[in-house]
Amino acid sequence: MDRSANMRAIRSKNMRPELKVRSIVHRLGYRFRLHRKDLPGKPDLVFPSRRKVIFVHGCFWHSHGCRVSHTPKSNFDYWGPKLERNVFRDRRNVEVLKAVGWRSLIVWECETDDEDRIRKRILKFLSK
Ligand SMILES: [Zn+2]
Repeated sequence: MDRSANMRAIRSKNMRPELKVRSIVHRLGYRFRLHRKDLPGKPDLVFPSRRKVIFVHGCFWHSHGCRVSHTPKSNFDYWGPKLERNVFRDRRNVEVLKAVGWRSLIVWECETDDEDRIRKRILKFLSK
């Protein structure tokens, strides 16, 4: 690996999940808007002409249920209801969006490590 490729790899590894997804979508050649406040849940990426949105969810905050997302056992009384509310809100946002004709794709933080897989999912979602 040459130096610049190496630097890119390091950068992409440390990049926030949302920025990773943005960069993948950008490279696919799709144009998008960010965090449109007039849509439920302020989706991370918005594709107005396709009426599609992508949410990039942190595994912990949105209770993915994967290995990295377990709810802390200490302070459960605090975290439990808080995280539950997030899950409820996420679900409702997707439903409300659907009701007004927007399709949603959820990309989980833990999935962004596998760039190829995410790229394929996004491509499939945006092209259908
Ligand atoms: Zn996860």
